Amino acid sequence: MNNDATTSGLTFDIQLSHHRKTPEERAQLLENPGFGQVFTDHMVTIRYTEGQGWHDAKLEPYGPLTLDPATSALHYAQEIFEGLKAYRHSDGSLVSFRPEANAARLNRSAERMAMPALPEDLFMRSIELLLEHDGAWVPDKDDFSLYLRPFMISTDVGLGVNHPSRTYLYLLIASPVGSYFSGGVKPVTVWLSKDYTRAAPGGTGAAKFAGNYAASFLAQSQAVEQGCDQVVWLDAREHRWVEEMGGMNLWFVFGSGENAKLRTPPLTGTLLPGITRDALLTLAPDLGLPVEEEPLSVEEWRRAAESGEMTEVFACGTAAVVTPVGHVKSDDGAFTIGDGEPGPVTMRVREELVGLQTGKRADKYGWLT
Ligand code: PMP
Repeated sequence: MNNDATTSGLTFDIQLSHHRKTPEERAQLLENPGFGQVFTDHMVTIRYTEGQGWHDAKLEPYGPLTLDPATSALHYAQEIFEGLKAYRHSDGSLVSFRPEANAARLNRSAERMAMPALPEDLFMRSIELLLEHDGAWVPDKDDFSLYLRPFMISTDVGLGVNHPSRTYLYLLIASPVGSYFSGGVKPVTVWLSKDYTRAAPGGTGAAKFAGNYAASFLAQSQAVEQGCDQVVWLDAREHRWVEEMGGMNLWFVFGSGENAKLRTPPLTGTLLPGITRDALLTLAPDLGLPVEEEPLSVEEWRRAAESGEMTEVFACGTAAVVTPVGHVKSDDGAFTIGDGEPGPVTMRVREELVGLQTGKRADKYGWLT
């Protein structure tokens, strides 16, 4: 397994689509794209072969893949992915938020799943190239962006399970998106899952690995059956320590006004190291909000919410940015955070982050590319 980044410097073969959407068709699709339903005209593909490294880099028309039924990704789930957004700034420029952090996380996921690293310059070039050709798909409306989905699958054909695949395919596809939750910035209700576990020590929780999401759908359905929007995962050993949400990291606000401070669970190896989470660790203190990475138990969550010591809770991630959590439900009953409405700290953090991403605030951290 060659997990080093030695084979960049590839030239991309450009194969333009003969079926590009017309400007009118595109404008219509951009009216109300939903989340991950509409795709741009092209995709990027790069192949990997053990011993040869990365090769056959292409920009090609977006379209179905042909896979042998015995392709290993379909059986043994070597599949990792990333998610990041490109925004259109008011001067027309196209900007992405910390893409090199996504490149690094893709490679950490690759390492965990015994897959090859993709050189960072190939990752960055794939994004640039897709934006060069499909940039017209980046919406220019508030709260809209182009969601970029880089991913990698194993492609060896055969059912042997004694070793990882020796060939891989990296792809980049893109989807114009509006607001992640259809209600806009509306507090979500969450379900504390005690029947199911997302990630155990030594497992795959810190990787953006497809199987983590396959294993989460049943718990997410249970959350919906309980009248909740999202599942909250607890630790595997005791089902006591709060980890994260289905696709977002969690933040707890203690106190208010000048005394407000933030807490988020530490990266124990069982939760995803969110890039938005990481950004808030820097951004919040600059807003006068001290942050700590400390565990929070379910008992403390309930107690602090009921006593009023905990004033707000929000979740953060690329897709939904910053989303308030209003109500919490579990087998032990329900409780409300504050008055159940979006709080001032949540909205302040959201405004700063969105401002930075969309160019309304100066990028003093150098996070935009
Ligand atoms: N946790 C999980 C399980 C996720 O899927 C995501 C989305 N990638 C996040 C947290 C948030 O990560 P990020 O801020 O990098 O989008």
